[in-house]
Amino acid sequence: MSGQKKERLESNGVCNLCGGAFGKKVMTKHLTSCVKEKANAGISSSKQKPKSGKLFHIVVEGRYQPEYWIHIAAPARAKLKDVDSFLRYTWLECCGHLSLFTIDGVTYSSESSAGGFFGQDFENDMDDESMDIALNNVLVPKIKFYYEYDFGTTTELALKVISEYEGIMKGKDIQLLARNEPPIIMCNSCPKSATQVCTNCIYDGDGWLCDECALEHKCGEEMLLPVVNSPRVGMCAYCG
Ligand SMILES: [Zn+2]
Ligand SMILES: [Zn+2]
Ligand SMILES: [Zn+2]
Ligand SMILES: [Zn+2]
Repeated sequence: MSGQKKERLESNGVCNLCGGAFGKKVMTKHLTSCVKEKANAGISSSKQKPKSGKLFHIVVEGRYQPEYWIHIAAPARAKLKDVDSFLRYTWLECCGHLSLFTIDGVTYSSESSAGGFFGQDFENDMDDESMDIALNNVLVPKIKFYYEYDFGTTTELALKVISEYEGIMKGKDIQLLARNEPPIIMCNSCPKSATQVCTNCIYDGDGWLCDECALEHKCGEEMLLPVVNSPRVGMCAYCG
């Protein structure tokens, strides 16, 4: 928990495929069967033949904030940069920071992508690989890997491939299978739940504020961000 004292309850989540609500651990088991049921239902009920192929079922969580988690289905031929875009869009993007995957000791950086920020003259002294690589080439079932967004106020994620399976897919689209419900975070000054977080005080663990306490907060309104359902809550300029 990176030393932060936060009053949080274990978060449940909702399955996007069937609408069922489950605890974090149960969701992994649930999805393993739910994706297969839905995939089979889709194949038999649809008139046009949907394209099926190999997908990875991946669970993603805040590396130090495991109460934030999503499950995704990613086609094996999708690329790391597609997962990067998806994570940014769903959870992280504030101002186009750089990002990095670490898989099996190898780093794959958003800046070494073809046509990246620095073009071909950029000397990459980190020896990072490009994210322009298919998941099939880097992932196998049960592998754990990591992702960092923004090397200043970094948000770190831990990912794990739960399984690979045959299912329906739309091109290389990544599908959100399930997501945690917003954890309840209490105001640091009163018994209400927090709606704002101070980007200055969050590092001391007491930046969480309800609407009323936010009005009286010492750092001023311009330091406050809304409490959002993301491991990037309270970081940089992230508003959800
Ligand atoms: Zn389900
Ligand atoms: Zn930012
Ligand atoms: Zn309060
Ligand atoms: Zn503050």
